[in-house]
Amino acid sequence: MDWGQAFNAAVMPNSNVGNYKRGGYLCRMIKVVLKRKIAQRIANGHPWIFGNEINTIEPAAIAGDIVDVYYHDDKFCGRGFINPQSQIMVRLLTRKKEAIDETFFYNRIRGAWEYRKKIGYTENCRLIFGEADEMPALIIDKFNDYFVIQSMAYGIDIWKPAIVKALQQVFNPKGIYERNDVPVRELEGLQQQKGFLSEPFDTNITITENGLKFYVDLANGQKTGYFLDQRDNRAAIRHIVKDAEVLGAFTYTGTFEIHAAHYGAKSVLGIDISENAVAQANRNAALNALDKTCTFQQANAFDVLKSWSKEGRAYDVVMLDPPAFTKSRDTIQKAITGYKEINLRGMKLVRNGGFLVTSSCTNLVQPELFLQIIDMAAKDARKKIRQVVFKTQASDHPIVWGIENTNYLKFLVVELCDR
Ligand code: SAH
Repeated sequence: MDWGQAFNAAVMPNSNVGNYKRGGYLCRMIKVVLKRKIAQRIANGHPWIFGNEINTIEPAAIAGDIVDVYYHDDKFCGRGFINPQSQIMVRLLTRKKEAIDETFFYNRIRGAWEYRKKIGYTENCRLIFGEADEMPALIIDKFNDYFVIQSMAYGIDIWKPAIVKALQQVFNPKGIYERNDVPVRELEGLQQQKGFLSEPFDTNITITENGLKFYVDLANGQKTGYFLDQRDNRAAIRHIVKDAEVLGAFTYTGTFEIHAAHYGAKSVLGIDISENAVAQANRNAALNALDKTCTFQQANAFDVLKSWSKEGRAYDVVMLDPPAFTKSRDTIQKAITGYKEINLRGMKLVRNGGFLVTSSCTNLVQPELFLQIIDMAAKDARKKIRQVVFKTQASDHPIVWGIENTNYLKFLVVELCDR
C-alpha cells in the first residue's frame, strides 16, 4: 500500500476529538501514555520518546501511525508519529492538538523559509533541520532553485508527497531530489534509495557562496551534495590566510582551500582520501580561476601529515575538517582518539606563530570535550594556544536549547606558538 498517497487525505479536521484517517479508513486516534518516571527531556521540549518511556499504546499501532501522547496523569503532551520497531518510538511533530495533514506540512515549510529569510538567507540554506524545525528526522537543503530531501524515519517518509507538494507551492523549484541512500533508514525498516521527486533535471549544479562558485553534484556528492553548515566558518579564515602557505586536509570539494586562495593565500594544498573529491576540488578551483594557487592531491591525511612533519615540512595555516569518526555513543572513545591524533599531527606542521583551523561535526563530542581534546594535542605537540575564533554551524542549522543533538559543529581557530 502507498501510505504516502493514503496520508494525503490524512488526519481529519476533527482529529482533536480523537479520530484520524489512514488509507481511506477512519481510525481511532492512538493514545500513547507515558510512564510516571520519564526523562525531564520530554517536558523540556525534546521531541523524542524512547520505547522504555512508554506505559501503554491503545489501540495497537503500526509504523507511521499518528499518535497522541499523554503524560501519566492524562495531561496532553503532544502529537507525533510512531514506529514500534524503532528505539526512538515516537517523534513529536507538535505540542498542539492540530491536524497532521498537507496544510500542516505546508505551514512548517513556509515557516522555516520565513525564518531563514528573516536571518538573512536568500539563495542556499538548510531549509529544514529536522528537530530544530519541528520536523523530526527530515532534512531539506535548498541550493538556489534545487532541493535535496532526506527523510530518515518511517513516519516522516510517508509524508514525502505532502512535503514535495509544499515545496512546489512555496518555491516553484527547478528540481527536487531525494538522497535517501543513508544506512540509518534501515533501523526504521526503510530501504535506501535516491532519485528524482520532480521531473528529471541535470543534478550537476553550480551554487554561489561568499562570492565564490562551486559545482555541486546533488546525486552523487556526499550527504546532500554540499556542506552548507561551514559557510560562515569558511569566511572566518579570511584574515589569517593572507600571504600564507596553507595546507587543508579532508578537503572534499575544496571549499575551505578555495576560500583561502580567494582571501590571498600564497599557496594552498588540499588533500582528501577520495579521488572523486580531489577531481571535483580541481574543477572548483578552475571555476574560480584559482587553480594556479590551489593544488589538490589524493592522500590519507593520517599518513601524510605524519610523514610530512618528519620530513620537516611546515605551513603557516593548517586546516582540518575530518568526518565524524563515530555515529554512536558506544564508540565515542574512537572519535576522541581520532580527533586527538589528527590534530596533533596537524599542529606539528604549523610554523611557530601560525594557525590551526579545526572542526568536528559530531554532536557526540560536545564543545567542552572538543576543546579538551585540542588542549591534550597541544600539550603533546608542545604548543601554546591562543584562541582566535570558536564557533558553531551557520544559523540556518539552528541550535534549539534542550535538543542537544542540534548543537553539533565545532569550529576552532587557534594561534600556535612553541613552548
Ligand atoms: N571540508 C569539507 C568537508 C569535509 S567532509 C567541506 O567544507 O565541504 C570529510 C572529508 O574527509 C570527505 O571528503 C572524505 O573523503 C575525507 N576523508 C575521510 N577520511 C580521510 C582520510 N583518512 N584522509 C583524507 N581524507 C579523508
